[in-house]
Amino acid sequence: MDPFAPGTWVWYTPAGDKPSLLPAQILLDAPNGDPVVSANGQDLTVPRSSLRLMDPTNAAGVEDMITLAELHEAALFHNLAVRYKRNEIYTFTGNILVAVNPYQALSMYDLETVRKYKGVMLGELPPHVFAIANQTYVSLGRTGKSQCVVISGESGAGKTETTKLILSYLNQTSPTHSLVQEQILDASPILEAFGNAKTVRNDNSSRFGKFIEVQVAYGTGGGIVGARVVEYLLEKSRVISQSSDERNYHIFYNLIAGASDDERTQLHLGPVDSFLYLSKSGCTTIASVDDAADFKLIKESLHTLKFGDHQKSLFQVLAAILHLGNVSFQEAGDGAGISSMDTVKIVGKLTGLDSDKLANVLTKRTTVTRGETFVTPLSLAQAQDSRDALAKAFYGRMFSWIVKFISDTTVSKQNLPFVGVLDIFGFEDFAFNSFEQLCINFANERLQYFFNQHIFKLEQEEYQKEGISWQTIDFVDNQTCIDLISKKPLGLLSLLDEESNFPKSTDQTCLNKFHQTHEKNGCYVKPKTAKMIFGVRHYAGEVIYQIEGFLEKNRDTIRPDLMDLLATSSNSLVSNLFKAPPEEIQPEEDPRGAIGGLRRESSLGPGKGAPAKSASVKGKTSKSPTIGAQFNTSLAELISTLASCEPFFVRCIKPNSQKLPGVMDRDLVLAQLRYSGMLETIQYQLGITKMFMKSNLDATLEHSRSSALLTKIKKLQAFARMLKVRKEYKKLWGAVICVQKVIRVHLARKRRRKYLRR
Ligand code: ATP
Ligand code: MG
Repeated sequence: MDPFAPGTWVWYTPAGDKPSLLPAQILLDAPNGDPVVSANGQDLTVPRSSLRLMDPTNAAGVEDMITLAELHEAALFHNLAVRYKRNEIYTFTGNILVAVNPYQALSMYDLETVRKYKGVMLGELPPHVFAIANQTYVSLGRTGKSQCVVISGESGAGKTETTKLILSYLNQTSPTHSLVQEQILDASPILEAFGNAKTVRNDNSSRFGKFIEVQVAYGTGGGIVGARVVEYLLEKSRVISQSSDERNYHIFYNLIAGASDDERTQLHLGPVDSFLYLSKSGCTTIASVDDAADFKLIKESLHTLKFGDHQKSLFQVLAAILHLGNVSFQEAGDGAGISSMDTVKIVGKLTGLDSDKLANVLTKRTTVTRGETFVTPLSLAQAQDSRDALAKAFYGRMFSWIVKFISDTTVSKQNLPFVGVLDIFGFEDFAFNSFEQLCINFANERLQYFFNQHIFKLEQEEYQKEGISWQTIDFVDNQTCIDLISKKPLGLLSLLDEESNFPKSTDQTCLNKFHQTHEKNGCYVKPKTAKMIFGVRHYAGEVIYQIEGFLEKNRDTIRPDLMDLLATSSNSLVSNLFKAPPEEIQPEEDPRGAIGGLRRESSLGPGKGAPAKSASVKGKTSKSPTIGAQFNTSLAELISTLASCEPFFVRCIKPNSQKLPGVMDRDLVLAQLRYSGMLETIQYQLGITKMFMKSNLDATLEHSRSSALLTKIKKLQAFARMLKVRKEYKKLWGAVICVQKVIRVHLARKRRRKYLRR
């Protein structure tokens, strides 16, 4: 029989310097000639010697990649690709779920499927996001411990859709049906309208990170009783400008398209093109999105969440931001003057501010030093900056206020365990990378570290401590990179803070400090030329950052005279956004006063703080930390929350850049598999399986210091051997997972005991 019969899957090694392995399918075989194969979308005639048969399990694809006969990058890719062709977008790697974005509506999320997965153990049914959602709920019910799902992947990979599917599953399987459940679901359209936008990568890209904790009435029926929402680092710069082919936040277009005639008149709304903050990027609509219909939906959601009269104020602030963008300036004497007073009047009316005072503060800076008042005119560029800074401050604070309002409305006061879902920005490497990218990539480093700790490190250490013979499996340990960015006092963020608090420093002096301190660090890249850039070798690849604007963005300050005016607003929402809790006001001697009495803006996580930071008392300044420091703290809090939960991981994969169904771009997918550590994970799990099957394991286990652990492992080992003999690989894998779980629980108990003893 011809081994290369048409239809057979083979591995093809193309001739060339770089050894690579391509999955290929035989199209035509010539017994004495060269076969024709289809490889990577091309039909090729190739020499027989470059082909080798693929193992049947690899050829057909498996539900759990750990059971693949051949394990290498190309095999992982092929497995995902053959499954994707059959619309099987979910695949397990042990208990990590890989989800490939289908870019089409699939009929796999209906009520029938929800019911099918309810209460069924992970691994017994085909891989599905519902299997993970179900497992979190089951584990919570069994242990009373909080669970979390960490969803990762690049922009457009499907994190937000996955989050919504998990929330919807939990809601549908909850034994209760209450208003708060409806409110939790209705929070999504609001958060997306205000926090998502069309980018070149994703028509509905989240421009903030979020962690939602769904609280479960453990012990009293297991219903959903509330939720807490925490947000991270909204991209405020989008409010004032967008790259070409991208949009501002959805809500602006929704409002303009869907407002009633009355609202249109009250808010002075014109068409989208009439607002500079919306029209400059050349993109105002999204194919397949009906902005007016979305606006109706959002109003309904705002109603469900009981925003009441606040709804009107939110729309006023949105319209005010749009009109603010149209405020123009002209040269007037020694500084800038307003050339569109009518527009300023509209902004004043919408925000409850005196328009003359507003015009004044947009064109002049008033400072009070030792009881004396100084008025300095602003240049044209400075006036434009002050206008844009105000627009960003309005939006950033409004967004944080909305998230807090939602969270306060839905959260239960009871101290209950929760299922937490983390939907956070993926790793970013653009043509121009700035401070935001450094923060985002730092977040990804921390999460990868958490993943490594959970999957590899803690477990390996535990095996060693228990005296179980174990050959350590390498993984990319990114501790050095994390230290480079955040270790005090010399990490990049600390150096940046130091410079931010020093009035004379510039982006250049900051860069010099970076270079001097870290030149020799293996994770740091100092450019060979004198360009204003530096690089960081992240676990997911090297990223070059442009230092320009770092200091300004990190300080994120707002002028005290502006703050004073805003706090006087007759619009209660506006005055609320800019009011300071009294304890945050610091006396003038505060060393941070050195940066010119500026107030720090604050609209990033962990969301629980009121966004309102620092209305002024003349001559005083607030001590809010810098953006970098706040982000670092909120991340540390997040990681510690995650560490107190039992974690599940979903790795979302973007199959192609064209957003097309059925198309899988090999290079794009391989890159994602590589940097998410999928191959290492698989090899690690395989290592564990082998270790537990080893015949001399008994002997090594005898030295274990914990007899309860030993007995359990031994029992499972015997069970696993029997499964191996019976070739029941799927169940065998289940048994191995059980062993891991036993060890993890043991480890957690030990940690808890140690903690209690302290
Ligand atoms: P970002 O980081 O930019 O926020 P993301 O990872 O959150 O990206 P999503 O917004 O969840 O990506 O997904 C992008 C788009 O892909 C969705 O708008 C939807 O069209 C499609 N998509 C993702 N997952 C699914 C799914 N399970 N079924 C159908 N379509 C999906
Ligand atoms: Mg998203």
